[in-house]
Amino acid sequence: MKNRLLLIEDEINLQNSLAYLLEREGFAVESASTGEAGLELARATPPDLVLLDVNLPGIDGFETARRLRADPRTRASLIIMLTARAHPDDIVQGLSSVADDYVTKPFLPRVLLARIAAHLRRAGTGEDAGGAALLRFGGLSIDPAAHDVRLDAVQVKLTRTEYDILVLLAAHPNRVFTRSQIIDQVRGSDFAITDRVVDTQISGLRKKLGGAGQRIETVHGVGYKFLDAPGA
Ligand code: CA
Repeated sequence: MKNRLLLIEDEINLQNSLAYLLEREGFAVESASTGEAGLELARATPPDLVLLDVNLPGIDGFETARRLRADPRTRASLIIMLTARAHPDDIVQGLSSVADDYVTKPFLPRVLLARIAAHLRRAGTGEDAGGAALLRFGGLSIDPAAHDVRLDAVQVKLTRTEYDILVLLAAHPNRVFTRSQIIDQVRGSDFAITDRVVDTQISGLRKKLGGAGQRIETVHGVGYKFLDAPGA
């Protein structure tokens, strides 16, 4: 099946030439000239990947990305932002909180194509896909197929047990797991696991996950759950 790409770019010449290039590479491409129009297309048929210009008329690329992330229908779509070289560092920094990657204009087509291919492969939606689907919650992404956890695109180093607990909880958002259920699922990956060990591992996980650690909620007297929307 073809990978679905959504291109949101208001420079019509660039939009046309990119759409042509991407279609020639075998992608199914939809194009929009504003964030609002792009969101509408994305909600109707969620794309595998969105190429998103930062400077757009109406809502900008950042706001468009935030809305894509906030909507359960489009949350899993990968986002590559297209930025201008003139953008100051703080803008580029901000990109990492909403996008999976960014490419600075002007770019070589083959560079953009390579980045697209790499992201689709990692997300497991490319032609050589296999294994479990990518889990994504805001800036946190968990790739069970690659045993890869990233926070704002930066890899988080977890122990095997921390990783197993995180995947168990995050694969079932908002479901409460007792300590013994957690032990049953991850038993023996590093060492014998007790209730105490579960608590220690959870506390380590929270630290390593920074802000995203708040998604792991203690359910007093019961166990833990992973919140789909923290603070909700
Ligand atoms: Ca633009």
